[in-house]
Amino acid sequence: ATDINTLLEESLRLAYHGWRAKNKDSNATLLTELDSDLAPVLVLPQDLSRVFLNLLTNAFYAVAEKSRQAPPGYSPQICVQTRRVGNTVRVRVRDNGNGIPAAVREKIYQPFFTTKPTGEGTGLGLSLSYDIITKGHGGTLSVESEEGEYTEFTISLPLGPAQA
Ligand code: ADP
Ligand code: MG
Repeated sequence: ATDINTLLEESLRLAYHGWRAKNKDSNATLLTELDSDLAPVLVLPQDLSRVFLNLLTNAFYAVAEKSRQAPPGYSPQICVQTRRVGNTVRVRVRDNGNGIPAAVREKIYQPFFTTKPTGEGTGLGLSLSYDIITKGHGGTLSVESEEGEYTEFTISLPLGPAQA
């Protein structure tokens, strides 16, 4: 069984370093709320890391965009959370970027769909993440967002047979 918390923290560190390399004069508050006795989940660590990294890369991009618009008092914030909920482990990635407009939200899981300029995004991150979570792990991936305010992705993974 894989330690989801460790995977998530590693991905957060990696995404943050990538973001800092590109946005040298920027800062972001990173919040981690990790369930310390998370039940073990059967996952493919490389695949799950990829999902985390996709979600976090999107989150950092979103706060960077909003930072460039510089709304008064804005301070970029990324929050990751793990929690056991019933017979699942729930992982959340939240950012206080510009959110996703309803018309865009319908398309985000389509392969090659992107709102980013050429060279900035392939549009494959969420499509791949969706397949990894649902087909690869029997879980669910969902999103909640308010335009101009925040975006929150929630992954739900079934517990391994011994724990459920
Ligand atoms: P890419 O990042 O290459 O554009 P993704 O599949 O990762 O492709 O995301 C697809 C689209 O979903 C993005 O182009 C963006 O419009 C939207 N999106 C994803 N995550 C966020 C987020 N955290 N905040 C705002 N928009 C997002
Ligand atoms: Mg992406």
